[in-house]
Amino acid sequence: MPRILIIEDEPKVAESLQLGLREVGFEVEWATTGEEGLTCLLENMPDAVVLDLNLPGRDGLDILATLRKHHEQLPVLILSARDAIDDRVSGLERGADDYMIKPFAFTELVARLKVMLRRENQSSVLAFELAGLSIDIVSRQVRRDSKSINLTPREFEILELFFRNIKHPVSRKTIARDVWKVERATSLDNVIDVHIMRLRKKIDEEFDVKLIQTIRGLGFMLSDEEQG
Ligand code: CA
Repeated sequence: MPRILIIEDEPKVAESLQLGLREVGFEVEWATTGEEGLTCLLENMPDAVVLDLNLPGRDGLDILATLRKHHEQLPVLILSARDAIDDRVSGLERGADDYMIKPFAFTELVARLKVMLRRENQSSVLAFELAGLSIDIVSRQVRRDSKSINLTPREFEILELFFRNIKHPVSRKTIARDVWKVERATSLDNVIDVHIMRLRKKIDEEFDVKLIQTIRGLGFMLSDEEQG
């Protein structure tokens, strides 16, 4: 079930969007400010974002720029009352995948979201590399430098998830959802931690650069840069 994050300060718009999107089978989360939206991204990665531009605090375009630094591929649809060509152009230039003007037709919004989600699936990358660690999604081969590494299916999926969010924190909640396919992480936290420990042993222990980092209060992150 695709997950959509709505960043929108007008309750009426947000509520009708939530209702409608749930009816067509999406899971929906709603943030009323851009900052809240960015926090939602950290806690529970959505499949697509519907972003308003006129928001209290940081403006939608500013939020989009921050979001794009970490999530190049995440589909974002701007839904705004700003209808000037300039607004549309700057939205698309800053990395929005689509732009719709309020008032909008709900069926069109759903159709456009579906197109974005399909595109996202097709463009999914099938091989990753970082600091000598490489994984191939199709053959499921993992190597670090010249050494071949055997991972269990769960360990592999966690590592793939880390690569898909490279240099960006991944929460236990996201791991629970994407790897174990369950919503609540709490009872799983210890199990997840054991898997991370084993994964670290296999891919990091013998190497100087440790790639799986613990981000306090947030989760884990795959990165070759030391955290300050
Ligand atoms: Ca607004």
